[in-house]
This record gives sequence, structure tokens and C-alpha cells, in this order.
Amino acid sequence: MNEAWKNIEEGAVIKHDITKSPRTGDWRYMKPEIKKAECIGCGQCFSVCPEAAIDFDAEKKADIDYDFCKGCGVCATVCPKKAIIMQKN
Ligand code: SF4
Ligand code: SF4
Repeated sequence: MNEAWKNIEEGAVIKHDITKSPRTGDWRYMKPEIKKAECIGCGQCFSVCPEAAIDFDAEKKADIDYDFCKGCGVCATVCPKKAIIMQKN
């Protein structure tokens, strides 16, 4: 698995200021759901989410903020464990 993204220095990537972002989740058509038992915490979904809507819970599993998730499905596409399932919202 390519984990080069973990070596990106803080500040080297653009991070949304989510406190000022519009709530893209309002118009979501599809909704990603994480199968926590399958998630290995690799962070690939986190690194590609265009809304910066993915974080990690206390067990270091991916967690989605549905206020800002627009349902694009990129996270589900990159997940190496197929741990993210897209469903109708
Ligand atoms: S569906 Fe898109 S916006 Fe929502 S968490 Fe996945 S990558 Fe982010
Ligand atoms: S890409 Fe998949 S396995 Fe990796 S943190 Fe996200 S949900 Fe978990």
C-alpha cells in the first residue's frame, strides 16, 4: 500500500476552514457509511475528501461529518479495504 501521503508536512496541503464552509451535506444524494470493523485507519479516505469531512474516532477508525460530506464517493473509491459503502441518502 502506498502510504507516501503520511509524509506530507503539515501546512503543505490546503485544508478547508470547515467552520466557515457551507454545509454541503444539505444537498447530499448519496451517503457514505463506514464499516468500522473493516477500517484499518490508513487515512487514504481522509487525504482525498474534498470537503475535509473525514476525521478519526478514538479507535483510530475513519469518521464522517455528515454536515459537510457531499456524498461524492471518492472516499469509497480509494478505500483499500472497501470499508466505505455508498448508499442512497
Ligand atoms: S463522500 Fe465525498 S465528501 Fe463525503 S466523506 Fe467521502 S470523499 Fe468526503
Ligand atoms: S480508506 Fe478505508 S480503511 Fe483507510 S481509513 Fe478510510 S475507511 Fe478506513
